[in-house]
Amino acid sequence: MDLPVDEWKSYVLQKWSLLPKSTQVTVCTAETLSDIFLHSSSLLQPEDEMFLKRLSSGYLVGKDPGAPLFYREQGNKKFQEKDYMGATVLYTKGVSHSRPNTEDISLCYANRSAALFRLGQYETCLQDITRAQMHGYPERLQLKMMLRKAECLVTLGKRQESTLCRLKRKVQEKENPTETFPAALTTGFEDMNLREENEQISCASSSVTLCTDPLKGRSLIATKDILPGELLVREEAFVSVLNPGEMPPRRNGLESKWDTRVTNGDLYCHRCLKHTLATVPCGGCSYAKYCSQECMQQAWDLYHSAECPLGGLLLTLGVFCHVALRATLLARCEDVGNVTRKLCGEISNRDICLPKSDVNGRYESNYNAVLHLLPHTRNHSPEHKFLCALSVAALCRQLEAASLQTLTTSLKSSQPEAAVVPAMCQESHIWGPAMLRHMLQLQCNAQAITIIQQTVNQRSKENIITDSRQVRLATGLFPVVSLLNHSCSPNTSVSFVSTVATVRASQPIGEGQEILHCYGPHESRMGVAERQQKLRSQYFFDCDCLACQNGKRRAAAGPRWEAFRCHRCGELMQGDDVLSCGRASCTESASRDHLVSRLQDLQQRVGKAQKLLRNGKLTERAIQLLLGCQHDAESFLSAEHSLVGEIEDALAQAYAALGDWQKSAAHLRKSLRVVEVRHGPSSVEMGHELFKLAQIFFNGFAIPEALNTIQKAEKVLLVHYGRGNDEIQELQKMKSCLLDLPPVPEG
Ligand SMILES: [Zn+2]
Ligand SMILES: [Zn+2]
Ligand SMILES: [Zn+2]
Ligand SMILES: [Zn+2]
Repeated sequence: MDLPVDEWKSYVLQKWSLLPKSTQVTVCTAETLSDIFLHSSSLLQPEDEMFLKRLSSGYLVGKDPGAPLFYREQGNKKFQEKDYMGATVLYTKGVSHSRPNTEDISLCYANRSAALFRLGQYETCLQDITRAQMHGYPERLQLKMMLRKAECLVTLGKRQESTLCRLKRKVQEKENPTETFPAALTTGFEDMNLREENEQISCASSSVTLCTDPLKGRSLIATKDILPGELLVREEAFVSVLNPGEMPPRRNGLESKWDTRVTNGDLYCHRCLKHTLATVPCGGCSYAKYCSQECMQQAWDLYHSAECPLGGLLLTLGVFCHVALRATLLARCEDVGNVTRKLCGEISNRDICLPKSDVNGRYESNYNAVLHLLPHTRNHSPEHKFLCALSVAALCRQLEAASLQTLTTSLKSSQPEAAVVPAMCQESHIWGPAMLRHMLQLQCNAQAITIIQQTVNQRSKENIITDSRQVRLATGLFPVVSLLNHSCSPNTSVSFVSTVATVRASQPIGEGQEILHCYGPHESRMGVAERQQKLRSQYFFDCDCLACQNGKRRAAAGPRWEAFRCHRCGELMQGDDVLSCGRASCTESASRDHLVSRLQDLQQRVGKAQKLLRNGKLTERAIQLLLGCQHDAESFLSAEHSLVGEIEDALAQAYAALGDWQKSAAHLRKSLRVVEVRHGPSSVEMGHELFKLAQIFFNGFAIPEALNTIQKAEKVLLVHYGRGNDEIQELQKMKSCLLDLPPVPEG
């Protein structure tokens, strides 16, 4: 997904292997990015471009006139099955394939408004009604839609009234407050903004300082003692590109022409990454979708006018190439003359420059900082550099071709063209190498923008347990966050809202200590050898963090969440190929192969039970299976083994589905113990697990336990996310609901 698709990759690699040795040497020994780009670019042949064009045409990103009707009919089917969410997404796909001001688009908007109405999303429903009318909704159908509009307004009005009533009630209760929780928890977390901004680094708090060491490079150091939860960096991405997620299958004769699967691209704004069920499409393609007309216009002005005509090429060349292009398009919005001057210096430089501050000595989150992120040109393999350079060269040629076309047609079209592209093509000897530099930088500096996606296991309105999963939504560059060095056991936690990254201390950090975050290989996810290997191959350094130092010493025993135990005495087993019981008086031993195959067998059975649970019909059967698994696990896995946790978690889900809250809570507590051992008591994983437990107690009306767990969950989640977080808001709602008991029926 980050790099170009496999077909293009292997095509380029083959091309490379067939090049004369002397040409290879020229590219390999080229000292500047500019030279690498120019050499590679001169090797790009028309047949290479044809091949790439064929690959790109497989992605359906244009507007297909037959598609709106197809998606509308598919949506209507879902609507009839009362799957309003499914219907909404299909109407969205219909909308994005329709041209503006056509009956197609107005019908799709109108149908989507009906689905949104059923989902209780009255505000967005009203927006879609307006959009349908704007695009010429047929007169003969107006009446039905007007009725819906009226109903929406009435419901929204009622809702406002009832909120008003509740507020009044609260005011009356003021003399006799029922709130039992001290406000102490909330202090210190109000800071959605930085308390005091750093003078030296934009977007950072004054509790840190930037140190530069000629050997170690730069690092962020605490200037005073920092408490868990303190906001350290809050930075908007300089550039970000939504990850296409599960790629639409490229068309071949056998597959159905139009894709009905839901991807993140259907649910999140392609500019601001906001979640929405009611996107507005780009007028020129079916791929880009936005949360609002405003976002669409901004994206168009800043970069999409150049990206739109490229069609499937950007999907073929991968997210890194796309980020690289967008970064240069955004750079042109800054002081162009200044940027080009700097660029000329930078791309003809060798890869030795240290990050510099701006003229005024301040490190700003801007293109200058992006430009100075290290590309590690010498560490990349020649093949990789060639792949990136050739891809960028192909992209530049397409940009040129597209801009020529828009120049000739712009006289007729009413769409205002940004003047970016023509100028950029004239300077492709500058922007090409700049894009190449960004592509190489991204391997070490790309920041995955993740969100916690909650899957609600909902069997009825009452039995709701949410399962949260971290999902990579987009890829971006954050020059200030990039100042942080890596640790496999970091002292910070990064979270995202829209395109803004927030770094908080996840534990106490003493004055003078370095602020560290994890680039991906976290000690709770990988063993020390695997981490070291990954960091060396992707980030070009040998990790010497505390976790790695300790890990090397303890490598023999392995982490507890992967440990086997003696089936005779329960002690942990130790060893490599043959494991023996850790208790001196016990002579039990077993081969690792044997234990691993038992583990795999068990994993398979657990997977089967989880599948049954997801289907939601054979819950009792799933429980039987899981209890069998649990019994087996006890005989050879440590009590903190991650699979044991998974089994307990699944049992908790299953009992919750049956409404047996007590059993559900008992199992979730066991799963919680495993999470605690693996990720630590104040980890974000622990927060999500506590959130689940709070839901279970809440649904089971176990009031004291629920309040207690809500408080614990809140405490952990606040450290990582601050107040604005959805789960925290949900916890607050649960709390006020419990404290308001007995419930007052709504009027
Ligand atoms: Zn948006
Ligand atoms: Zn477009
Ligand atoms: Zn490490
Ligand atoms: Zn033993």
